[in-house]
Amino acid sequence: MLVHWSHPLDAEGSIYVDPGYLPFVDEVQPQLVQVGFYGCIFWAFAHVPEAVRGAIQGALPGDGNRKACGQWFENLNNELHRRGIKVVGHFDVEYHVTGLINGPQGPREGFFKFYNELWDEKEFGPKPVKDPLELLQRKADGTPFVIEHLKGYSPWPLYHGCMINPHWRTVLKAFVKQGIERGVDGFIANYFYREGCMCQWCVRGFKDYLRQRYRPAELRRKFGIEDLHKHQFVEIVGRYQPDNMTPLRFEQLRFTSIAMKNAYDDVFIAYGRSLKPDLILAQWLHGHYTPAPGDERLMLPPELWAKGEDYLWYS
Ligand SMILES: [Zn+2]
Repeated sequence: MLVHWSHPLDAEGSIYVDPGYLPFVDEVQPQLVQVGFYGCIFWAFAHVPEAVRGAIQGALPGDGNRKACGQWFENLNNELHRRGIKVVGHFDVEYHVTGLINGPQGPREGFFKFYNELWDEKEFGPKPVKDPLELLQRKADGTPFVIEHLKGYSPWPLYHGCMINPHWRTVLKAFVKQGIERGVDGFIANYFYREGCMCQWCVRGFKDYLRQRYRPAELRRKFGIEDLHKHQFVEIVGRYQPDNMTPLRFEQLRFTSIAMKNAYDDVFIAYGRSLKPDLILAQWLHGHYTPAPGDERLMLPPELWAKGEDYLWYS
């Protein structure tokens, strides 16, 4: 396997756009390459000129011409197939939902420009919701979770889609279909960052999870929840907090792991493989938010752990 991620902070990251890439592949003779972008990075930035999108430019050829950028990846996939090599594309699932949302003009630029102006229903199917803000992860006060500035990742604030939200999964499925049409043999999905989202789907999902797992008397005794239906959670954490965990936070973490796996299975295993039954699938995970460094899905029950996935990848 030969892997080229393109990372704006990594000087050598975009080397696959170099004309020397294919001759290098010929020398290495891999069976599989992991290369190219088919998730939110592509759809948020492929239509943005390099001068605007800044350091992320190395990741995407085409200088803001989305069709040319997509065609470039399609050509690369064809070249690799001609050599008998399989291609697995990168697919970011929650990150890079970037752009501007404040002010009288509403959501614009980046991902929001794509969703509002460039989403062609003939190509992508109907938009799941009219307002793209309905797709975002929410804080407890209802405002979108945001990273105001992350150097090198975007010229705009970064928002996160919520994979527990079925409408967001509809968006991801449209991207899966596009990627398969571009010729990939599989996807490696990354950035499973549930930032303690408190959207209606997450709150309902966590209550359903607790209801299935505990009787009302147990909820009262273990967690002080008198009436689950009416209970208002102050948080539903999505990340391990060293030295600051409680029994309820562990339940929230376990809910997150299971709900994310279910969402992954819905988008990639059920839908993706309905289009291409031999779709190669993996998750690119990070170890820095879990009790055991190196395993982002530690809280998954064994019967779900990497189920239906073809290989394991830890960053
Ligand atoms: Zn949510």
